[in-house]
This record gives sequence, C-alpha cells and structure tokens, in this order.
Amino acid sequence: NDRTVDPARSEEDLGEGGLRPQTLADFTGQKSNRENLAIFIEAARNRGEALDHVLLHGPPGLGKTTLAQIVSRELGVGFRATSGPVIQRAGDLAAILTNLQPRDVLFIDEIHRLQPAIEEILYPAMEDFQLDLIIGEGPAARSVRIDLAPFTLVAATTRAGLLATPLRDRFGIPLRLVFYTPDELQLIVARGARKLGFALTDAGAMEIARRSRGTPRIAGRLLRRVRDFASVGNASDEPVGAELADAALTRLEVDGLGLDGMDRRYLRRIAEYHNGGPVGVETLAAALAEARDTLEDVIEPYLIQEGLVLRTSRGRVLGERGWRHLGLTPPASAQM
Ligand code: ADP
Repeated sequence: NDRTVDPARSEEDLGEGGLRPQTLADFTGQKSNRENLAIFIEAARNRGEALDHVLLHGPPGLGKTTLAQIVSRELGVGFRATSGPVIQRAGDLAAILTNLQPRDVLFIDEIHRLQPAIEEILYPAMEDFQLDLIIGEGPAARSVRIDLAPFTLVAATTRAGLLATPLRDRFGIPLRLVFYTPDELQLIVARGARKLGFALTDAGAMEIARRSRGTPRIAGRLLRRVRDFASVGNASDEPVGAELADAALTRLEVDGLGLDGMDRRYLRRIAEYHNGGPVGVETLAAALAEARDTLEDVIEPYLIQEGLVLRTSRGRVLGERGWRHLGLTPPASAQM
C-alpha cells in the first residue's frame, strides 16, 4: 500500500512516535472529548479508583492510540498495548490480564477484530475484574475463577457499529473522534515542523493542513514529504512557504482537497459507470479491487464528511460537490 494519504498506519509511521503529544493539554482538537476525559480522569484519581472503560471510535489516524497513552500518563499508571487480531487464544488474553497492576490501562486496538470466544472472557474481566478459566480437559476439566486487579480497558475501533452490543455496552466512556479542522491541523503541522527543525511558514503549514484529509497521521506524513522536497529543491535558507508545499503535494498527486488517485478513482467510478449512483458498496469494492472494509473505514468517511459522496439506503451517490471536484457537471437529477 503506497498511498501517501492513506490514514492507516504504515511502516514509515513507526517513526511518528516522536511527534506524539504527551499530555492532554498538548493534544490539539477533539475539544469535547478532551474536556470530558479530563474530568473523568481527575475524578478517578481523586477516588483512587480505576478509570471506567473507554471506547474510542473513529477513522484511522485521528489519535486513538495517542489518547490511550495520554490517559495512562495522566492517571499515572502503567500502559499495556495489544490488538484484536494479535490475541489468538484465551491464554494470550489471560496472561495479559493477570499481569496488570491495579488501575493500569490496557489498550486493545482494533477491538472489533477480537474473536467471539475471546470477547466472552473479556466480559467478566471488564465487569467484575474476574477471569473464568477452564483448566484441563474432558471429565477432569474444572473452571477456576481468578481475581484481577481493577484496570481500565481503553479500546479502539474504526466503527462502533462493528462491535457486539454486549461489548459496546460495557464501556462507561464511549468517545467518537472526529476529523480535525484545517486550523487544528495547522497547529499540529507547525508543532511537528518545529520538532523536526524544519523552517515552515504559517501559510506553508496551512497548505499541508488543508490537504491532510482532516487526519493528523496524514498531516505528519505530508509534512515529512514536503520537507524531503524542500531539502532537495530549495537551495535558499528561506522558510518553506505555501508555494513550495503546494508544488510538492501536487507532485505527490495529492489534490487541493487532499484527495489522492484512489479517492478520485472512487469518485470517477460512481460518476462514469453509474451516472452518479446510487451504487452498492460491494459493487464499488469489486470494481476498484479494494476490500469493502477499506472503502467503508478508510476511504469513504472523509469523502462523506466533505459532501463529495452521500450514503443512502440504496447505495452511494455522488454529491454535487463530488461532481464539481471531478470537473464534471452534475446531471439535473443530482442537483440536490
Ligand atoms: P489512531 O490510533 O487513531 O490510528 P494515532 O494515535 O496512532 O491514531 O495517531 C496518528 C499520528 O497522528 C501520530 O503520529 C500522532 O502523534 C498524531 N496525532 C494524532 N492526534 C494528534 C493530535 N491531536 N495532535 C498532534 N498529533 C496527533
């Protein structure tokens, strides 16, 4: 996967940790989530209790992992991270749970990919801090109950709707992360540039921000790409401005709205093969040779939020803005 604007984590992002905000106060955006978390964290600290379980949901790259780490730091407790697909056997989860210290944060990324049998173990662990394990096999099998330290599960998922209701209901603090505004992303880009020792003007930061699909992970990646271009193409000592940032991003085929070739192929498919839709997501996924989940979790959320695409009961429909972005005139029936 070589999309520059893919919000999913890729190998090059392993270095992104250096740009991660460390405290709630340093975390830009997500204002109401931040304010709520601050209150719940303070209350839990004052009572000396584990924080209620937190469910973070929203598209990739918006700061779920970052927030989970910040929660543990603000609580002054240990942090243990794993992910749904990594936990293969009941014993894996049991080992993690029994090693937690009181009030620790356990972060499970992609919790919607946890196997159902393992989810069952999580229910009593979350609710009563107890682990029910079956030891042995056949007639000799017996079940033992182990007390766990009270802990906080912070779980992340791209779509809350993918979770079984009984699991979803066990989170006292469900938080939905939203796309960042260009102003918020500008702050994030400017701070990132300072940390990299890269001289970037405010206008240069805004150019990158506007083309980051509302997503800090993409902003960080575009910032590094622009810096690469600048270090090669910019002989002067002048800080990099909007013009050079624009040239670099255009070279990368990231357009004015931050869309890349994949996004435009998606939009064009609906326009040219389905006359603007409606068209089912399965049909689109097959035509574009992408997994349906990738379309729904990674590609569509931003296009929908920007009004380029509408999700209707009969399928996806190209919005008027989508037609115009492709440089096409919407047919009369699409003038909504
Ligand atoms: P997710 O877990 O939702 O996929 P991450 O927490 O891994 O996202 O964040 C992706 C990248 O974006 C990280 O480099 C992180 O430092 C950065 N980031 C996310 N949210 C913010 C924010 N509010 N301010 C600054 N950087 C952020």
